[in-house]
Amino acid sequence: MLSLVFATSNAHKTQEVCAMLPGVEISDLRDHPGLTLPEETGTTFEANAIIKATGGSARLPGMLVLADDSGLEVDALGGAPGVRSARYSGEHATDATNREKLKQELAKLPGGMVFTGRFRCCMALVRDGKTLHVAHGAVEGTLRLQEQGEGGFGYDALFTPTGFTETFGVLPAKTKNSLSHRARALASMKAWMETNL
Ligand code: IMP
Repeated sequence: MLSLVFATSNAHKTQEVCAMLPGVEISDLRDHPGLTLPEETGTTFEANAIIKATGGSARLPGMLVLADDSGLEVDALGGAPGVRSARYSGEHATDATNREKLKQELAKLPGGMVFTGRFRCCMALVRDGKTLHVAHGAVEGTLRLQEQGEGGFGYDALFTPTGFTETFGVLPAKTKNSLSHRARALASMKAWMETNL
């Protein structure tokens, strides 16, 4: 059985990836205590995904190490929070404080606007320090000023994917996993792995 280490300690992300890669043995950083990742100093999702996967790989010789970097881009905010999505409200940011900051920033904009945006995800697969493949995925949608739903994580309760009327905070995980940025990047990565590993 193919096994890989997903370089994240975000249980939500691991859950999503496990659901999308049946038949692959997946561990994450919770299974490798003491393994810390380098700081995400890149200015793009791709650069940060490679930094995380390469950093993990340095401590896990011979292992396939997958890392993702993801975030939300809001057009009316010039693409913010972007690569700063996880730390949008400051160094000690939580998902809740980040959502508050986003709501505050959107509320400053002219009323009646439709806030278009997208989640983006980049996944990098690295073994022994060598980047084997990089895959991208995105899901378009709109942002709300009020949270809706308690499912998911991060900005889910504020984001309604195009073609739906409810946010990722309400939509079932199965629906999110069929169309999310992470699902799309992973589908592309999975196709590569099936052909090349
Ligand atoms: P990363 O862990 O550096 O990739 O940071 C990603 C940040 O972007 C998270 O902390 C969330 O705030 C946001 N984000 C990424 N993917 C999602 C998602 O699927 N739903 C909601 N927020 C997300």
